[in-house]
Amino acid sequence: MVDGKPGPGNAAPAKKAATGAYTPAAVSPNRRARRSYTIRLWSVRHSRFLEWFYGRFADAFLWLHPVWNRIGYGRVERPVTFVERNVKGLLFDCRMCGQCVLSSTGMSCPMNCPKQLRNGPCGGVRANGHCEVEPDMPCVWVQAWAGSRNMVNGDAILKVQKPVNQSLRETSSWLRVTAEAAAARENAKKGESA
Ligand code: SF4
Repeated sequence: MVDGKPGPGNAAPAKKAATGAYTPAAVSPNRRARRSYTIRLWSVRHSRFLEWFYGRFADAFLWLHPVWNRIGYGRVERPVTFVERNVKGLLFDCRMCGQCVLSSTGMSCPMNCPKQLRNGPCGGVRANGHCEVEPDMPCVWVQAWAGSRNMVNGDAILKVQKPVNQSLRETSSWLRVTAEAAAARENAKKGESA
C-alpha cells in the first residue's frame, strides 16, 4: 500500500520497486505482459464466436484425417505444434499443456493460473476479481466463468477435469483430439457393421 492506495502490482516490478515496496522476484514463472492480458480478455469476451470457430476448425482437421494419416501423425506433429503454439499463444497465452480445455473454460486458459488449477479458483481471488499471486492479473477462473456464460456449451465448465498429464506437454492438442475423434468414428462404424 502506498498512501493508503494499493501499489503497482507484479506486472510492473520496476515501478513497484521504486516505491520501496517489497518486490518478490519471479513471482510469475511466466513473466506475463499486460499485452497478453488484453488479448486474453478479448478472447473471453468473444468466447461464443471462438467456440463456433473451433467447432468448424476441428471438423476441418478431422476431415483431413486421411492426409495426416498418410503423412504420419508423428511427422506432422512438429509443424502443427509450431502453428498451434503461436496461434493459441497469441489468443490465449497458451502454455502448451497438450490437453486443451478451452472449450470447457470459457476460452480462458487455466494454465495461466499461477497455481495451475484446472477445476475452479482457489480461495484467494481478490475482491476486484484479480489473482492473489499476481495482483495485476484478472483471475483466470473469474474470466472462465464469464466466458462460459456466453457459450452454447458453457455448462461444460462444470465438468471435473483430470489432473494434467505432464508427459503431453509441448504436444499438439489439435492432432490428439483429431486422432481420438477419428478412432471413435471408426469404432462406431465397426460397431454398426458388426
Ligand atoms: S488448456 Fe493447455 S493447450 Fe489449451 S490453451 Fe491452455 S495451455 Fe494451451
